[in-house]
Amino acid sequence: MERLGRTIRCLARQQGINVKRLKRRQRVMPVPLLSATLRMADVILAARALMRPGTRSGGDGLQRLARAVKARFSVAHAGFYMGGRASLCAVVRALGLTPGDEVLIPAFTCQCVVNALRYEGIEPVYVDIELDTYGMDASLVERALTDKTRAILIQHTFGMPGRDLENLLALARGRGLYVIEDCAHATGGRWRGKLLGTLGDIGFFSSERSKIINTIHGGFVVTDNPEIGRRLEEDAARLTPAPPEFTRRILWTLIHSYFTHSCPFRFVTSGLAEGLLSDRLVPQMHDEELAGAPCSQYHWSLPHAVAPLMMQQLSRVDRQLAERRRAAEKWAVWCLRNGLEPPKPSPDATPTWLRFPVRVDPAIKKNYAYLEKRLGAHVGVWFQSAAHPLPMALQECPRGMEAAATCINLPTLDPSRA
Ligand SMILES: *Cc1c(COP(=O)(O)O)cnc(C)c1O
Repeated sequence: MERLGRTIRCLARQQGINVKRLKRRQRVMPVPLLSATLRMADVILAARALMRPGTRSGGDGLQRLARAVKARFSVAHAGFYMGGRASLCAVVRALGLTPGDEVLIPAFTCQCVVNALRYEGIEPVYVDIELDTYGMDASLVERALTDKTRAILIQHTFGMPGRDLENLLALARGRGLYVIEDCAHATGGRWRGKLLGTLGDIGFFSSERSKIINTIHGGFVVTDNPEIGRRLEEDAARLTPAPPEFTRRILWTLIHSYFTHSCPFRFVTSGLAEGLLSDRLVPQMHDEELAGAPCSQYHWSLPHAVAPLMMQQLSRVDRQLAERRRAAEKWAVWCLRNGLEPPKPSPDATPTWLRFPVRVDPAIKKNYAYLEKRLGAHVGVWFQSAAHPLPMALQECPRGMEAAATCINLPTLDPSRA
């Protein structure tokens, strides 16, 4: 990083650019929501993978990653996929769920969750949320149960273990239902000291560009249950990795994302990256997914070339989470000063604070540009609908609807600090 800084200062001097002014401009670059975790070291890894065709097909990147993930989560089984969405598809198969089975999900979630379940023939059943932590409200679970219910999906939204986590775990145990933990926001978060993803039967994680670690697309599954683990591994052996062209695009998109979102000099480099790489990028969501139509990415495993990137970023997570927690404390003070209510995670929770959620007037959520200007930070709008496909209304889930209308989220990682 320091060497890059020197190179840019030197270049700037040659071009007659006033470096002091550059630094001042750097400070007013808005804090990004996407790709804030990327570092120059990731760009170097991605560039190496692009230059060495061998690493795209062979190599032992995945085996090394699997060893690291199993050790980190103290689990016997792990699988790696081309997204959190593909990970959830693998979870469904590993649990042995069959078409027609129902899974309870919170009425404030991502389209990918609904798609992954539907693509596997599973019927997602919405349960309303509570507004302290945006988790599923345990008191509403009973009425959603049918004789087809097989699992409860517990989503640690914005990286917060939900208010009703303990009750949900007990309820599932009492009813013989599987617990799937959606840790797409929660890599490295804990509850009573235990890592999220290891509280239920199986947990899945995301390394999409908006999440705690970032390989543009990617995800993994962990479980310590021998039977589920065996099925997970048998299933993984049948999958094919993302095709080489898609993998190359992932690597180019990562380089593009660094120079547009994380680089301290991004007010210069983003234009360059855009000009050079804009035709090599993969989107966050494909058009067919938004419409709920089938999409092959949900059935690809993670290619070897992407594995070292996931491993490198996992090694930085704890440091970045400490930074996110400091930012969350600041946002909580900001909320109180501005008459807004901060979220209320339980004292048992160690959230990741992927983002800091707060509810505002619906008019502000619709037109948040002025907030962005005032805060010097990008403002997120997850999730814009309680249910999917967008904009699906769920009259029986009023709090999910309220969150969709009023909840914005604020960035917790300033790439120029962590
Ligand atoms: C992003 C997200 C997912 C899916 O992860 P991808 O890696 O983007 O496929 C699942 N659940 C939640 C709550 C998410 O926000």
